[in-house]
Formats: sequence, C-alpha cells, structure tokens
Amino acid sequence: MAKTTLIDVNRCTGCWTCSMACKAAYGLEPDEFRMFVRTIGGGGIDKAGGEWPNLYLKWNPVFTKKCTSCAGDESTGGVPYCVFNCPTGSLVYGDLEDAESDISIRREQLRDLGYHEWQQPAWEETRENVTYMEKGI
Ligand code: SF4
Ligand code: SF4
Repeated sequence: MAKTTLIDVNRCTGCWTCSMACKAAYGLEPDEFRMFVRTIGGGGIDKAGGEWPNLYLKWNPVFTKKCTSCAGDESTGGVPYCVFNCPTGSLVYGDLEDAESDISIRREQLRDLGYHEWQQPAWEETRENVTYMEKGI
C-alpha cells in the first residue's frame, strides 16, 4: 500500500508552515501550492466561524493533485517536508499496514480518544491517501 498522510485536525493551528516548507523545498512560484491550509467556517483565511460570542477557528490542511506524495530527503529522514516541518505534530506520514509504524500508533491512540476518520470528497479533486482524524469539542 502507498504511504499515507494522517492529519490530526484538532492539533492544527493554521500556521501554514507545512505549505511553506513544501514551497521552499521545491522552489515553487509565489502563487503555486502543492498544499494549502483552509480555514473552516469563516469564509476566508483566518476568519472565525460562528456567531459572536460563540466564535471558533479551525483549519484543514488540503493536499492538491500537484502534491507528489514525496518522501523528503535525508535531512528529513524520508518524511515529506510538510510533515517534517509541522510544529504541532498534526501531520503523520507512514504505512498504515504496519501496526508498529508511527502513523498506525497515532491512529489507534486517536480512535481510542473517540476521533472519527474522514477523507476529502472526490469533487475536491485532492491527493489520494490522506486521512483526516477529528473530534468535536
Ligand atoms: S508531500 Fe511533498 S510534495 Fe506533497 S505537499 Fe508535502 S512536501 Fe509538498
Ligand atoms: S498542519 Fe501543522 S504546519 Fe500545517 S497549518 Fe497545521 S499546524 Fe501548521
């Protein structure tokens, strides 16, 4: 099975480091992105959703079809640049068929905590092999 990226949605702080790390590694043009970070609910980047005083901020990293599912290089230990540089540990990369892998262990931990799993719908035309895990607060 191809290696997978798992996103722990509840940990993501919307910092865009993942996206910038990819751009830097591949020398992408300013308006070119292999992944981006979507703000959920507010209708624009970092715009809060909800109604005052019950506002919320939440983000989903989104991998586009331009993402090559890379494996970084020696400096990242074979982990994609986006995953390696995420400061919160929201992104985990590896083989879900290997029960001892970091990604499998994280998935089990999150399942035990009551997180549910989902994928982007086909109409989003995003990269395959990305799993989101999320728990309502
Ligand atoms: S997996 Fe590689 S190509 Fe895809 S977004 Fe991450 S760093 Fe960029
Ligand atoms: S996945 Fe990590 S690097 Fe990317 S926006 Fe979320 S916290 Fe930042």
